[in-house]
Amino acid sequence: MVGGRWGCVKAGSRCYTDAVSALVDAQLVPSLGPAPERTGQPSAWALLPDELRALGPLRGDAERLFSRLQRVATWGPDGPEVGKSARALLARTDLSLPAIVERHPSEDGATRCVLRLADGHRVEAVHMPRAVKNPRVTLCLSSQVGCAMACAFCATGSMGIVRNLTAGELVGSVLALMRALGPASGHQLTLVFMGMGEPLHNLEHVGRALEVLHHASGLGLSPNRITVSTSGLVSGIDKLATWRVRPLLALSLNATTDEARARLMPVNRVWGLAALKAALLRFPLRTGEKVLIEYVLLRDVNDSDDDAERLAVFARGLRHNVNVIPYNAHDAAPASALPFAAPDDEAVQRFARRLSELGCLCTVRKSRGRDVRGACGQLVQATAQPRSAPSAGGTPASSPPRTRP
Ligand code: SAH
Ligand code: SF4
Repeated sequence: MVGGRWGCVKAGSRCYTDAVSALVDAQLVPSLGPAPERTGQPSAWALLPDELRALGPLRGDAERLFSRLQRVATWGPDGPEVGKSARALLARTDLSLPAIVERHPSEDGATRCVLRLADGHRVEAVHMPRAVKNPRVTLCLSSQVGCAMACAFCATGSMGIVRNLTAGELVGSVLALMRALGPASGHQLTLVFMGMGEPLHNLEHVGRALEVLHHASGLGLSPNRITVSTSGLVSGIDKLATWRVRPLLALSLNATTDEARARLMPVNRVWGLAALKAALLRFPLRTGEKVLIEYVLLRDVNDSDDDAERLAVFARGLRHNVNVIPYNAHDAAPASALPFAAPDDEAVQRFARRLSELGCLCTVRKSRGRDVRGACGQLVQATAQPRSAPSAGGTPASSPPRTRP
């Protein structure tokens, strides 16, 4: 019984056990529609060249227009600079970008950013430069406002689900963050869908965003530089396997028995460990590719020698890396409701060593941005009241784009 040990955590308007019931009763996670279009127009950021061309007459090349939109390095001070006919074409689209309304720089070089969407909802993203003098940047992106999965240890899980981000908002988040904080080029960018939300609960929009971000006339992101992390939606993993732009897969395992996992992660009541392992075994990995198994380490909950042994058994037969993530504390729910703590450093190292001895390739994640509440599992935003007025949310990248001389 999920509510048993941790109690019924009242969080926002959702009760933790309600979310569990929804998952269990439906035998599926709820199916969410896309966010309502704010203007009734398609987002310019999510259109591929052929779709831009189909909007109306365009003097010149649609691939070139797509490049102008996607390559932030070519933008002028007011956004993409395009010719007259392209400008008329883009008037039929929504050009608003998520607005970066807060920046919280961490001592370790990462920056937690709060992005305001067009309807006033807020999501978070973390910008992580690789190192001083290295232009590579990893962006940790949110795929949903909140999350339906209600994992007991996660701040986002305490919000409940509000809505999916649209493909335009996903691509727009990348472009807005690149513009504000870099990098200049897509070749210096790595994306991880490890922010707020369950990306496989938003397959349609995440999939389209990857098609756009991968396109050679745009940022040209390699699928090997994009990781989608899931709590274990087997139906979603199977769909992901068929995508043309198929990203790397990370699975948040976090427990080694069905009983413990169902207590921490309600989704395990729909797809248990055996179903998960079978899904990973049939996932078609590319040459040299591995599945990342994430494991949030919780003191006295999932950090025993027996857990290490069961984790090694789960990983057997899979090409994998295990990423041990010491629990990051947060105050999204009363401390009494979330009785979790990270093991001390020595216990973390001992767990990782044991895994290595058992044949797992294992690293300990040094979560970045912890001092600014930007580390794994700490991202949360109060649920905004949706607003319909355009002024409530995203900023126009340019309204309309400037005509190039
Ligand atoms: N929803 C997806 C991706 C977002 S969560 C998923 O669950 O995989 C990204 C990672 O943060 C997951 O591996 C999750 O297990 C981990 N995480 C969640 N809460 C955490 C916390 N409080 N401390 C450390 N890691 C946490
Ligand atoms: Fe959602 Fe992932 Fe947090 Fe679970 S760990 S509540 S799936 S964001």
